[in-house]
Amino acid sequence: LLANVNKWSFNVFVLDWFTNGHSFPYLVTHLFHTYNFIRTFKLDALKLYRTIRLVELGYCKTNPYHNSLHAADVVQAIHCNLLEENIYPHMTSLEMMAAILSAACHDLDHPGVNQNFLTSSSHYLVSLYNGVSVLENHHWKGTISILHESQVFQHLPSHQWKRLTYLIEILILATDISKQQEILRKFKVDLTDKHVHSHRHKQTIVQIALKCADICNPCRSWKVSRKWSQLICEEFFRQGDREKDLNLPLTTAYDRTQSTTAKIQTAGFMSFIVEPLFIEWDKFSPSHRSKQMLLNLRCNRVKWAEIEKKENEEVDGSIRRQSNTTLVS
Ligand SMILES: [Zn+2]
Repeated sequence: LLANVNKWSFNVFVLDWFTNGHSFPYLVTHLFHTYNFIRTFKLDALKLYRTIRLVELGYCKTNPYHNSLHAADVVQAIHCNLLEENIYPHMTSLEMMAAILSAACHDLDHPGVNQNFLTSSSHYLVSLYNGVSVLENHHWKGTISILHESQVFQHLPSHQWKRLTYLIEILILATDISKQQEILRKFKVDLTDKHVHSHRHKQTIVQIALKCADICNPCRSWKVSRKWSQLICEEFFRQGDREKDLNLPLTTAYDRTQSTTAKIQTAGFMSFIVEPLFIEWDKFSPSHRSKQMLLNLRCNRVKWAEIEKKENEEVDGSIRRQSNTTLVS
């Protein structure tokens, strides 16, 4: 299975099944070996494995979506994105390792609800981070704590440690969807220069590579993509349930009695968030893989629209039947 890790068709659900729910440590350890990080940075293999397990345990198992399986999927996706021929040769080992670690830790200790919920429920994290990128700040700080505690990088020269932690910070913070337009604008300006030269230019590219990896579910094959959609929507519906229980303002789309997975999928996330990002990615790094991502996205969108249309027809039909019954009686 891990021999297919470079392919976009890689199915992390299958790996998770074969590893008894531990795809995350298998995949991350495999990539640390593949990229030769252990030898390059003289890492203690045992300390490294413990660190990876600590990160895995830092993900909440009961979240339907934001758990270590999503993290494993994002790690595999950023690995594919960074393999593109106009990126990989320009990356240093430290930058590659920062990218893989950021993908692995980008949703660490995710509470399974969004920032709006944390705000309306007066969660302590909101005041801790002044209401700005609350979750992303929490994931980043948690990551640095684990790396400190595990001492896996304690022997690195200070300039390397500084660069590693700086990259992890800017990469994880860039996963805040509300920052997408800002980063995409910077990326479009950088697109005029196709060569990956400066630190700043490379950082924007890797930020975009991680953002693409984080929201790549609609760009996978229908079978895999549909499964992710069901999982994220279940997490949304659970938030809706909690909003009702706690008498908080109800997010309409998250109300399981009114909404459906198909409704959420066709509401605009694919067209207004995912597609613009992947179009720019394809412009920057056109490849068989980037074309496949866009093709999958467009096919999946049509499939969800068909499902939603059928659902609406069924609802219309049952309303008509009900009103006919009322008229007859
Ligand atoms: Zn994520």
